[in-house]
Amino acid sequence: MVVYNFAAGPAIMPKEVIKQIQEELPSLNGSGMSVLEISHRGQDFDRIIADAEADLRALMAIPDDYAVLFMQGGGTGQFAAMPLNLAGQHRRIAVLDSGQWAARAAEEAPRVGVVADVLASTKAQKYTQLPTLPAPLAQDYDYLHICANNTIEGTAYWQLPTTGTVPLVADMSSNICAQEYNVRDFGAIFAGAQKNLGPAGVTVVIVRRDLIQPMPGLPTVFDYNLFDRKHSLYNTPPVFAIYALGLVLKWLRANGGVAEMQRRNRVKSGKLYDFLDQSKLFHNPVAADVRSLTNIPFMTGDAQLDDAVIHAATAAGLLNLRGHRSVGGLRASLYNAMPLAGVDALVDFLHDFEQHN
Ligand SMILES: *Cc1c(COP(=O)(O)O)cnc(C)c1O
Repeated sequence: MVVYNFAAGPAIMPKEVIKQIQEELPSLNGSGMSVLEISHRGQDFDRIIADAEADLRALMAIPDDYAVLFMQGGGTGQFAAMPLNLAGQHRRIAVLDSGQWAARAAEEAPRVGVVADVLASTKAQKYTQLPTLPAPLAQDYDYLHICANNTIEGTAYWQLPTTGTVPLVADMSSNICAQEYNVRDFGAIFAGAQKNLGPAGVTVVIVRRDLIQPMPGLPTVFDYNLFDRKHSLYNTPPVFAIYALGLVLKWLRANGGVAEMQRRNRVKSGKLYDFLDQSKLFHNPVAADVRSLTNIPFMTGDAQLDDAVIHAATAAGLLNLRGHRSVGGLRASLYNAMPLAGVDALVDFLHDFEQHN
């Protein structure tokens, strides 16, 4: 049976990439050694990581004055690493609370000695809208943190907040390379790979070098300047995760890059939103102008019926549709690797289910 994996993360990867990994796994480049065994100081890995950086720079048009780093610790690690590296001057950051992942960032900063002011929140609206700055941003913040795409709640920033001279930092864990952004609009961007870029284990950081102002006591494994100088090879990197991420980046380039991904993602998500908006059984609660391309929550309003949908969908090969426990209902994650056929199968299934219920 054909199955489609709608998980929010770790998530679907391109079939072609999985096949290439399978074929190359016993012997990388005829070396007789698996990528699981090679040294991170050898020539093969040198090329893998250099290509990954070059391909990401090309895909996102990352300017030369921005460093590209491959780190560990996930998106959650960056909730601490970002203030540790960027908040050394004022020790104060601003946060727009657009959902649970933004709230986590605001909770983590004080743990490393940085004040986090939550300037606006849409928690009272169950995060179905995005918060906006209530007043012009005070200029004595080290940066403003936003979560570009709210994986759990299904919202995304299509218009960025105006920050004056304060750098904007974005958690793009769930829409990096899925939606077009101009890197120059940000002081820094980070993303755990396991949503849209590859397997779990590597975290991408893109940061404008002149903004780095470290806090005292910054641990070396989180030191952006050190990782930049050492080309992310200060200590042992997650070799396999970077290799697989590199293959995904090559797949993205071969398939038209980020603009083409955004176009496809609009078509895919549009099909599901159009269905949900006319359905009498299912609905999506998110304000139309802030809907995500990659994460789409929906529900019937009846938890037992939602359960029945999830069970029937699973039996039909439509996997991992259960919504986050805080939102309930269902959630379809339509990352770059999800083919249109997967969305068609989902919409057909939901349509049938509605007819029979
Ligand atoms: C999943 C996710 C995180 C957390 O990532 P980890 O790698 O599990 O730490 C942070 N931010 C967003 C937007 C996410 O989707």
